[in-house]
Amino acid sequence: MHLDRATGWCHGVRHCPSPNFNQRPAGEISLLVIHNISLPPGQFGTGRVQQFFQNALQRCEHPFFEEIAGLQVSAHFLIERDGAVTQFVSCLDRAWHAGVSCFDGREGCNDFSIGIELEGTDHEPFSDAQYRALIELCRLLQGAYPAITPERVCGHSDIAPGRKTDPGPAFDWQRLRAAFITC
Ligand SMILES: [Zn+2]
Repeated sequence: MHLDRATGWCHGVRHCPSPNFNQRPAGEISLLVIHNISLPPGQFGTGRVQQFFQNALQRCEHPFFEEIAGLQVSAHFLIERDGAVTQFVSCLDRAWHAGVSCFDGREGCNDFSIGIELEGTDHEPFSDAQYRALIELCRLLQGAYPAITPERVCGHSDIAPGRKTDPGPAFDWQRLRAAFITC
């Protein structure tokens, strides 16, 4: 895995460009937001998250898709259960993952954050392969964007409390934090 700083795209991962992005208003990249997602909820390896971020979800496939198919959202990265990493939006651009949000008194976290989706649910343990890929990706991003200090790695539920619950209680923050200390 290697990050091309000129383009904001990682090499050595899958690319699945999403149309759901725009410019960061100030170019700042200083926060990392961790999420979970699975489509349909609780089903893994379906390829539907990729379709969702490309506005290509088929409404008729599942009742839940009827609800969400019209949303235009994205994240910079998705890490599937087998540890495969897919990038949807350049790190230099603003992906649409956080929604109404606030970190340390600042609203609109999409403006200055990178969003990483872990394929999963709030209550199922994430896989070892996902932690390995997440730690590698976090180290890569922190190397490229030093403003992302360990204190500025958070969950979606931290910046949208009461509205969002991901990455959920099954996410092992200790495991991620320990990796930062040893890097
Ligand atoms: Zn989320």
